[in-house]
Amino acid sequence: MASSLSSPSDLGTPPDHIRFGIDLGGTKTEIIALDHQGETLLRQRTNTPTHSEHSTPVEHYQAIINNIVAMVQQAQQQLSIQEYTLGIGIPGAISPATGLVKNANTTCLIGNDLQGDIEQALGHPIVIANDADCFALSEATDGAAAGKASVFAVIIGTGCGGGWVINGRLVSGPNAIAGEWGHNPLLWRDEQDPQMDCYCGQKGCLETLLSGPGMRRIAQQETSIDQSSQHWFASYQQGDTQARQVIDRYHRRLAKALAGVINTLDPHAIVLGGGVSNLDSIYQHVPQLWGEYVFSDTVNTPLLKAQYGDSSGVRGAAWLGATTK
Ligand SMILES: [Zn+2]
Repeated sequence: MASSLSSPSDLGTPPDHIRFGIDLGGTKTEIIALDHQGETLLRQRTNTPTHSEHSTPVEHYQAIINNIVAMVQQAQQQLSIQEYTLGIGIPGAISPATGLVKNANTTCLIGNDLQGDIEQALGHPIVIANDADCFALSEATDGAAAGKASVFAVIIGTGCGGGWVINGRLVSGPNAIAGEWGHNPLLWRDEQDPQMDCYCGQKGCLETLLSGPGMRRIAQQETSIDQSSQHWFASYQQGDTQARQVIDRYHRRLAKALAGVINTLDPHAIVLGGGVSNLDSIYQHVPQLWGEYVFSDTVNTPLLKAQYGDSSGVRGAAWLGATTK
């Protein structure tokens, strides 16, 4: 087994190569350039071409590729560099069976050979991964869990997407589904844990309970008050009794969900990102609760807040390109 990474400079690419990362989002496309120590040399954003600007999915898809190629070429010119690696985080996954994009909410990408098409347009090899996987790689490489041998990292925001990094490498798996913890059901469920329909076709997925919209729906059922998760967090921090009940139940659900991860793979650290990760009480209360469910006399797993926040996706994409060169 390879030893764990001690710093980003241990990655495979020569130090003089620039690591480009691109985060392809539904509304924005962002590029970052990192040096071998993780210092940001350049960072730019453009609007992602939208469906409404193009008459067909084929034109929309081509516009997205053209935009990415233009951003890379412009960044190359600005930095006066030839040698680089490029990783791209997308809101979907590459099917190992076909090599084509699946599960993407930018639907014109689905069924296309995005990697092959960008490589052909750029004349340069690239690496593509799911955006939650890029988040995990960022936090494991030089973020909150830097130096930890195995890391489970999950973005809890509008959804619940996670990723696994072991010894500095992203774990993909034969189905490209590693880390999709959000579509497991809640373990140790009790009568306070509702079973709501999930868009994936199942009932009671963690995403329906733990995501921001999920918390809002449950709190509305429990209190008849329709407020955002941010509202509940703020009220909790002000000592509101009703918010305390809502958030206490949330802490316990998250503790159960993460205890299942610890019992299965016992990671050296767990990192949380996304809007929900800003609720500071999680880091105190969840580790006080998960010991009831973990099959061990002690639980020493650090539960950490993401260091790079919203920047982790694009940073992880840059490290992705560098690790697989
Ligand atoms: Zn689901």
